[in-house]
Amino acid sequence: MAPPQGSQAPLEFGGPLGAAALLVLLPGTMFHLLLVAGSGPARLLGPPPYLPGLETLWSPRALLLVLAWLGLQAAFYLLPARKVAEGLELKDKSRLRYPINGFQALVLTALLVGLGAAAGLPLGALPEMLLPLAFAATLTAFILSLLLYLKAQLAPASALAPGGSSGNPIYDFFLGRELNPRIGSFDFKYFCELRPGLIGWVLLNLALLLQEAKLRGSPSLAMWLVNGFQLLYVADALWYEEAVLTTMDITHDGFGFMLAFGDLAWVPFTYSLQAQFLLYHPQPLGLPAAGAICLLNAIGYYIFRGANSQKNTFRKNPSDPSVAGLETIPTATGRRLLVSGWWGVVRHPNYLGDLIMALAWSLPCGLSHLLPYFYILYFTALLVHREARDERQCRQKYGRAWQEYCRRVPHRILPYVY
Ligand code: NDP
Repeated sequence: MAPPQGSQAPLEFGGPLGAAALLVLLPGTMFHLLLVAGSGPARLLGPPPYLPGLETLWSPRALLLVLAWLGLQAAFYLLPARKVAEGLELKDKSRLRYPINGFQALVLTALLVGLGAAAGLPLGALPEMLLPLAFAATLTAFILSLLLYLKAQLAPASALAPGGSSGNPIYDFFLGRELNPRIGSFDFKYFCELRPGLIGWVLLNLALLLQEAKLRGSPSLAMWLVNGFQLLYVADALWYEEAVLTTMDITHDGFGFMLAFGDLAWVPFTYSLQAQFLLYHPQPLGLPAAGAICLLNAIGYYIFRGANSQKNTFRKNPSDPSVAGLETIPTATGRRLLVSGWWGVVRHPNYLGDLIMALAWSLPCGLSHLLPYFYILYFTALLVHREARDERQCRQKYGRAWQEYCRRVPHRILPYVY
């Protein structure tokens, strides 16, 4: 059935013009960061050391590696899962089922990489291939989004995302038309959301650590911290994989270039920026400073995990003893909003914890360069924008109850400041 064009959902990201600009800006920024991280001055705002030609970017070997990586992760996705979870109710009242085996995929990948390394797999060669790998991942994301855009032409109207059917092809290609594109039980968005990109990110970090050990005899303390913190973050996301089913990415956004590029290219290649920087710009780090940074990361993680778990437990079972005593506001939908505990401190305590961790990931890189702080700058912008999008949706969903929540918890992310 042909889906309706020109849906009334308000346009986001600056509409078609904004989407067209982001289509170029996002990959452009990623390549800029990759080029600058390996250059001597490593200036975030300076020009790149050179403009790579197609011969530097295009490599059939890199494309094969990216496709093999996606194939491997897809095979792990299809293995029997410890649990199959149901997503939120869809427009047609049905619920999709999702395998909860992302952590299993991480462990299996670690085993395979360990075995491969013992058999002489040259992991340390990956850092030299970052540009062609990133290009291949971008190309893959582009082609995947194009195929998904075409597939959505055949999808029924009930399968479309609220925002991706404006009728403008560039905007819809960017935002994604279909909410949950699937072939059989294989869910493209859910598969891409956490696995190839997040596991790829820690694999790149590990390759950068091994390369540093090869160049300097052993990995630096700063490199260990960055690897350890980010591995904890990825392992946590996969351990609590079920929580992704209630996020905006799964329940609201279509699967288009924004998420495909973000998941497959942006996350592994820009989130590993600190490790890339450290490989080419070693930074001294004493034990007291390392201890203080570990403490900061632990505080951030404590807030992030505490807030996310509290809300997830409450949404799953409000009478669970760990949340039953919390104060709540009733809403017309029958759902309640937490107004004490973490969600009574600010309206997005999980973002606060995430941002504190982001700072702890940059500090091991010292204070001489702005480049390793790109992540926290970008992430602050992303979370402020995400908070505004979520706020708009909650205001629509909960009306006066949301207004009451905002009155009782006036700050969004940072207590007494924002
Ligand atoms: P959140 O987990 O913040 O969820 C927002 C939803 O929670 C709202 O839509 C509402 O949905 C519910 N909610 C809001 N306030 C309350 C309340 N007081 N009581 C009960 N429920 C409430 O969404 P995100 O997907 O933005 O974030 C999830 C995690 O992922 C965060 O920790 C974030 O930092 C992280 N993240 C990381 C990114 C990265 O690149 N590293 C990118 C994006 C996010 P409802 O009422 O329908 O349940």
